[in-house]
Amino acid sequence: MTQNIDYDLVIIGGGPSGLTAGLYAARAKLNVILIEKMAPGGQILATDWIENYPGFPEGLTGCDLAQKMAEQAKRFGLNIECGDVTSLDLSQPVKKIKFCDRVISTHAIIIATGASPQKLNVPGEDANLGKGVSFCATCDGPFFRDKVVAAVGGGDSAVQESLFLTKFAKKVYLIHRRNKLRATQILQERAFANDKIEFVWDSVVTGIDGLFGVEKISVKNGKTGESGEIAVDGCFIWIGIRPNAEFTGDAVKKNDAGFILVDSNMETSVPGVFAVGDVRDTPLRQVATAVGDSAIAAISSNHYIENLKK
Ligand code: NAP
Repeated sequence: MTQNIDYDLVIIGGGPSGLTAGLYAARAKLNVILIEKMAPGGQILATDWIENYPGFPEGLTGCDLAQKMAEQAKRFGLNIECGDVTSLDLSQPVKKIKFCDRVISTHAIIIATGASPQKLNVPGEDANLGKGVSFCATCDGPFFRDKVVAAVGGGDSAVQESLFLTKFAKKVYLIHRRNKLRATQILQERAFANDKIEFVWDSVVTGIDGLFGVEKISVKNGKTGESGEIAVDGCFIWIGIRPNAEFTGDAVKKNDAGFILVDSNMETSVPGVFAVGDVRDTPLRQVATAVGDSAIAAISSNHYIENLKK
């Protein structure tokens, strides 16, 4: 039955969840490949500092953690290929994956493609992307030394990354649509104690403007209805995430926001297809939860493949 089938298992995505699934699958001696669009690491590559992943008491950079995870998986023989998966055919027990110019076949798939930043969808956002509009403080923060920037959002990303921006910028306006942050308490306390961060509460950004890159943003207070402008050199946006699951089409069941639904084995609505980490419907998105998902999915997929081969 294994003849003419390229792989036992294909893992799509090389963030912490994909790399963990790869580590477990390689140790289980599955014929496995991991396909990653860019460099292994996923969203944590854009995270300056991770201090809540157990085992690293001093914390470490997202890049360092990604590198260590990739090294560990490769040590057990995980093959990582670079490429973009554009579609899946899950209509038969032998699944097909369109990947670059190839179609590969596999018994099982683990989808670990993560999520991408949500856009504001306001005038000037796209036009100024790379010219002051950014979704990544680690990548772009150093360009704003002694400058004034806006950060939009009230979750962990907005607060953690605003704190990072204060290493460079002389002032960070943290603009949140409510008057209460969603971020975890310890991050809130650090932000409230930081003189460089000024909170703009109950407000949304309605436009981003400038002749040669970002020069100002338009802000509207949702409570008073008042509108105004704030002069800034950059605008960082962290208003949540959207799942990287378009390539799956309607093949697997999703929630209303497009995150993939799974059972307690991380199996989707299609037998032999698993989803882990940020791309799945989950109450918590952390590196620690992503790696937990992936250990379960790798073992579940191994059982699935063993049963097929019996
Ligand atoms: P998030 O937790 O979904 O927070 C998004 C924030 O943006 C919320 O404060 C939300 O406001 C606001 N928002 C949403 N849509 C908006 C809009 N159209 N205009 C203005 N504001 C808008 O997203 P996240 O901070 O990117 O985090 C994503 C996941 O990663 C979370 O599970 C988070 O815990 C996790 N994460 C963890 C860490 C860490 O552990 N250190 C770091 C980064 C991210 P409301 O509050 O009013 O809804």
